[in-house]
Amino acid sequence: TAPATWSSVRARRDAAMGGPVAPLFYDEPLEIVSGAGAWLTSSDGTRYLDAYNNVAVVGHADPTVANRVARQLRTVNTHSRYLHPEVVELAERLVATMPPELDTVLFTTSGTEANEVAWRLATERTGGSGALVVEHSYHGSTKWMADLSSNEWPPGHQPSAVGRFHAPRGGADPSASIADAAVTLAEHGHRPALLLADSGFTSEGVHDAPASYFAGLRDAAHAAGALFLADEVQVGYGRTGPLMWRFMQSRVVPDLVTIGKPMGAGYPMGAVITRREHVDRFATHYEYFSTFAATPAAAAAGNAVLDVLSDRALPARALVTGEHLVSRLRTLAASTDVLGEVRGTGLVVGVDVVSRPVARQLLQALVRAGALAGLTGPGGTVLKVRPPLVWDENHVDHFVACLTRALDQVAAG
Ligand code: PMP
Repeated sequence: TAPATWSSVRARRDAAMGGPVAPLFYDEPLEIVSGAGAWLTSSDGTRYLDAYNNVAVVGHADPTVANRVARQLRTVNTHSRYLHPEVVELAERLVATMPPELDTVLFTTSGTEANEVAWRLATERTGGSGALVVEHSYHGSTKWMADLSSNEWPPGHQPSAVGRFHAPRGGADPSASIADAAVTLAEHGHRPALLLADSGFTSEGVHDAPASYFAGLRDAAHAAGALFLADEVQVGYGRTGPLMWRFMQSRVVPDLVTIGKPMGAGYPMGAVITRREHVDRFATHYEYFSTFAATPAAAAAGNAVLDVLSDRALPARALVTGEHLVSRLRTLAASTDVLGEVRGTGLVVGVDVVSRPVARQLLQALVRAGALAGLTGPGGTVLKVRPPLVWDENHVDHFVACLTRALDQVAAG
C-alpha cells in the first residue's frame, strides 16, 4: 500500500468518521506524529509549541508515565472489579489532595462520565430533578451533560430541567441570578438537585471568580436544596497553582468535585470525589461499576502523573510561569486594537479578541507562526492559552513572539 499522506488520511477520515460531526482543529488539520515536553511535531516535520493541551499536563510522552503504564500492561490489566494496590494508592492520594470532608472517590473513564455519576448522586441525595448551570458552560457529551452544557444548546433551546445563571462578572454576587434560574425550573415542575460550575469558567471565556462568588454558588445551591459541584476537569491538577484544585483558592468546600482530562496523561480517566454520606445514600439503591474505570494500567498512569507533578513541583511553577504569561500578554494587548482584556490564573489564560472572524484569522496565523492554541468563550472570541505545566518563562517568551508574528500577519491582511 502507498504511504499515508496528510491529504489521504484526511479524506479517509472524512469518509469513515463523518467529517463535520467531529470537527478537527485548524483550517488545515495537523497530523501530529510525536511529542516531547511542551512540543509537538507534525508529519511534515514542523515543530509546534503546545499552548493548548492540558491532557499532557506533565508534558508529552513523559517517560515516567509511559514506563509505569507499560510495566503494568506487561504484567496484567483487568476490569475494575478486582483488588489492586495501584488503584487504591491512587484513590488515597487523590483524597489527600482534597479538603478532609471530601473523602471518597468513584473512578470513571472521562470528565463526562464523572459529571454523570455526580448528577446521579445528587438526584438520589436531594430528590430533585433539575440542574442550575452557568451561561456558556460545558460539562460533557452525553445527553444529560449536553443538556447541562448551556454552550451546546441550539439557538432558542433550553432544556426544561435546566436553569441558567450568569458567569462571574466584576465580582458580582450570583445569588439573584441563581434565584431567577430556580424560579424558571420551578415553573417547569423541577426542584434543583445540582448546581455545577467549572471552577475556572473556561468555556465561559476564562473568568477569575473571587472567593465570594464561590461562596455565593455554594450558599445559593444549598438554599435551593441542591448540591454544589466544582467541575475541575479542565482547570484542575495544579494548573492554577500552587494548589491542586482551583476551588481551593476560595476556601469553599463543594459537595462534589469532578476531575478528568490530565488525570492519566491521555489514558482515559476521570473521578468524582465527594463526601461518604452521598455515596452511602446512593448505595442504598444502586451499585456503581464502569468497566475501564481505574484499571491497574490506568491507575499506574494516574499515580505516575501525581509523581511527576510533585517531583517537579509543577503546580507551584504553573503559578509563577502564569504570572509571566499574563504580564507579557497584557503588554502585547496594550499595543494592538485586536486584543483586549487578559484574564486567568496560573496556566489557564484567556485573551479577548476584537471579533470572531479576527479571532479565527489570528488562530490560523498563530499555527503558521509555530504555536498551537484554541478559542473559547461566547462566540469563540477568546484566545485560550492552556499549555502543559512543563512550560517555563522561555516557553512564554517563545509563545509571545509567535503571537506577535501572528498579529503582524493579521494586520497585513
Ligand atoms: N467538564 C469540563 C469543564 C470540560 O472542559 C470537559 C471537556 N472539555 C468535560 C467536563 C468533559 O470531559 P470529557 O471530554 O473527558 O468527557
